[in-house]
Amino acid sequence: MGKKLLILKGDCIGPEIVNEAIKVLRKISQLYSIDFEMTEGLLGGAAYDETGDPCPEETLEKGHQCDAILMGSVGGPIWDGLDRRFRPETGLLKLRSDLELFGNLRPAILYPQLVAASSLKPEIVSGLNILIVRELTGGIYFGEPRGIRILENGEKEGFNTYKYCESEIRRIGHLAFDAAMLRDKRVCSVDKANVLEASMLWREIIEETASDYPEVTLSHMYVDNAAMQLVKEPKQFDVVVTGNMFGDILSDAAAMLTGSIGMLPSASLNKNGKGLYEPCHGSAPDIAGQGIANPLATILSAAMLLRHSFGENEAANAIENAVSDVLDAGLRTPDICSQGNIRVNTSDMGDAVAAAL
Ligand code: NAD
Repeated sequence: MGKKLLILKGDCIGPEIVNEAIKVLRKISQLYSIDFEMTEGLLGGAAYDETGDPCPEETLEKGHQCDAILMGSVGGPIWDGLDRRFRPETGLLKLRSDLELFGNLRPAILYPQLVAASSLKPEIVSGLNILIVRELTGGIYFGEPRGIRILENGEKEGFNTYKYCESEIRRIGHLAFDAAMLRDKRVCSVDKANVLEASMLWREIIEETASDYPEVTLSHMYVDNAAMQLVKEPKQFDVVVTGNMFGDILSDAAAMLTGSIGMLPSASLNKNGKGLYEPCHGSAPDIAGQGIANPLATILSAAMLLRHSFGENEAANAIENAVSDVLDAGLRTPDICSQGNIRVNTSDMGDAVAAAL
């Protein structure tokens, strides 16, 4: 029986980049005899336009039935004025939450061919290989109560709730320690335990979890220092584990160290290994429809999908090597192109990766 893959192309550049990843997966299917059953679904602005709901019931159902999801990106200025419950990003949060995709893996790897694209000096970033493990379904983005209320003096007050329970911290901790066991066996847990009670508990539970992994070295860092260390000495990190909001911010900073956000894949996993795989970047409305978006983050997300949800390590490695070969050959989309490179469009890049396989 084929592996059930749900494709959510999303908005703006979403369809352009997902089409290239599908091209690469079809080639993988031939070369490695992996049978995919691909179904498409609607999410984000495209789903709102068609159904009035950014995450329709049908998409949730397909999400439950499939083995893994490959997604583009959602959002765009034409939906920005909508009420929060109709916004594309709300649809994505609903999908992540409904499928209990609590663990977000965001590798920040600097390809040696792109060292000049980083905003930091080559000696600071060359060889960079960090894995950020971000809790994705808890913390302040989901905590209740939340809202905007009118105070007695007539002034408006916006409020959110930051909370984590033990089981939420433990499961993300295990994901991070398991990942570290396959890498350099170092975990840095990032929190704000000097100020926030939720962070104090976070630190306590992460320490308890660490006792199951005696080979892994655990350290703790406050989030403000972590932001500073990421730009000062990023190679000191192996695996970074942190909560939802801190992870959101730090993983974007880590992304920039690699030169282009168009290169970075991500996986969001639930406890059964089902995952939603998507590039780290957004829907890039400024370049949508021009055929110039970099599809590599989405293609590398397909490699993560093969590895984490389907256990197809050989095929995953083949995609990552093919991307490296294409970069070696000097091919670049405009976001990573510098002098001496061969400038290609989105579709040429997908063709080149498929051919390099
Ligand atoms: P963005 O990541 O879409 O774009 C930031 C900059 O990076 C832009 O200049 C864009 O052109 C460039 N860029 C991004 N991806 C690229 C690619 N593959 N190739 C070349 N250049 C690329 O971030 P933004 O502008 O803040 O957000 C745009 C929309 O995306 C918003 O509606 C936002 O809410 C949404 N968004 C969605 C997700 C998601 O779907 N998971 C994540 C972040 C932002």
